[in-house]
Amino acid sequence: MGKARTVLVTGGARGIGRGIAQSFLEAGHAVMIADLALTPDGGGSDWTYELASHSEMARTVEELAPLGDIRGTPLDVTDAASCDAAVAATVEAFGGLDVLVNNAGVVDSGTLETFSEERWDKIFDVNVKGVFLMTRAAADSLRASDDAAIVNTASIAGKRGAPSMAAYCGSKWAVVGITQSFALELAGDGIRVNALCPGMVGTAMWSDHLMANQSNESFEQRMQDIIPLGRPQTVEDMGQAAVFLATAPNVSGIALNVAGGFEMR
Ligand code: NAD
Repeated sequence: MGKARTVLVTGGARGIGRGIAQSFLEAGHAVMIADLALTPDGGGSDWTYELASHSEMARTVEELAPLGDIRGTPLDVTDAASCDAAVAATVEAFGGLDVLVNNAGVVDSGTLETFSEERWDKIFDVNVKGVFLMTRAAADSLRASDDAAIVNTASIAGKRGAPSMAAYCGSKWAVVGITQSFALELAGDGIRVNALCPGMVGTAMWSDHLMANQSNESFEQRMQDIIPLGRPQTVEDMGQAAVFLATAPNVSGIALNVAGGFEMR
C-alpha cells in the first residue's frame, strides 16, 4: 500500500460510488462519502426514480466502517454552498483532502419530441455543473496536498451517442472534456485528473429507470449478449479502476473504459 490518502466520493451512498468508497477503504485510505441524504427513508427526490436517502447513506457508513475510516456528509452537487460545506466537513474530519471522486450523477432518457427542458437542465446541472462546482470547491485543499488527484465518473456514454439519450450522452461527453481541460489546467499544481468510463453496472440507474419493469435476469442476459467479455460490470470493477486512476503517479487526462470490451475508443 502507498501513502494513506483522504478521499471524498460524491454520490457515495450507493451503487458505483459505494463500490469506489469500499475499494479506497480496502486500499487503506480514509473516505468521506457525500450524497443527497434526502428525507430519512427516501421519497424526497423530484427525479424520475428515487435518489439516495439519509438512511441509505447512514447504512453504507455503518456497513463499510469495519474496513476503515469512513464518514458521511450531506451534499447537493448542484449547490455551490453545499459543495463548499462538504469539502470543509472532509478537511475538518480528516485534516485534509487528497482525492476528489466526482461520481454523483443522474440518468434520464426520451426522444427529441418528448424530452422536456426541465429534465435536460437537471441532467446537466448534476452531471456537468456538479463536476465544476465540486472541483472548484476542492481545488485549494487539493493544491495543499502533496499527492492529489481527481477522478470523474463519466461513462461509455461519453464516448458514443445513443437514441433517446442525447442529454445523458451529452453530459458525459462534457465530463470527458472537463477532465481533459482540468488535467491541463491543474497539472502545474501537481493534480492529476482522469475520468472513469463505466460500461453497464446493475445499479438503480438500470433497475429503476433504463430497464424498469424488467427482471434482473433479462438485464444479465442482455449484457451477456452484447458485452464481449460476457458479463455486466460490477461496482467492484469500478472501485478497482478508480483507485488505480487516483494513485497512478504519471497518468492524467485519460478517460478509462471499464466496459468488458464493449467500448474501446
Ligand atoms: P446511482 O443512482 O445508484 O448512484 C448515483 C448517486 O448519485 C446516488 O446515490 C444519488 O443520490 C447521487 N446523486 C444524484 N444527484 C445528486 C446530487 N445533486 N448531489 C449529490 N448526489 C447526487 O447510480 P450509479 O450507477 O451508481 O451512478 C454513479 C455514476 O456512474 C453516475 O455518474 C452515472 O452517470 C455513472 N455511470 C453509471 C453506469 C451504470 O451502468 N450504472 C454507467 C456509466 C456511468
